[in-house]
Amino acid sequence: MAGCPRCGTEVADPLKTWSMVGKPSRKGERFKLTLGLFNCFKCEKRFRVVLGKEKITIKGMIEEIRGIEKGLTQTLRSLREKIRNLESEKSDLVREIEKFRKLGEERADALEKEIVTLGKEVKSMKKLLGGFEEL
Ligand SMILES: [Zn+2]
Repeated sequence: MAGCPRCGTEVADPLKTWSMVGKPSRKGERFKLTLGLFNCFKCEKRFRVVLGKEKITIKGMIEEIRGIEKGLTQTLRSLREKIRNLESEKSDLVREIEKFRKLGEERADALEKEIVTLGKEVKSMKKLLGGFEEL
């Protein structure tokens, strides 16, 4: 809820909110400000309002860092899991490729033997027919 600076209308919900850290005061205190962007539905003026002001303490910073650490750990864990899954998928594929390669080699060997056999047959047939041709 914020009052329009132009016409005084109370606007309930901000269009968006964000937070920023202000410059340190003379005492060295820092504040985290939560700001909201409002749009007056009566006069259509857009205005920003400070919705919250929170002193930044060491405790707060430590908590924030802990939160970030936790997030990083989770990201790392899910990345590791993803890598593990990809690796097992890869080894499955490699195994399959190996299987097909072996099958291909066996097929090629068999064909080679068949060709040799056929070649021998052709030779013996030629010999036979050649014998007839001489007649
Ligand atoms: Zn207004």
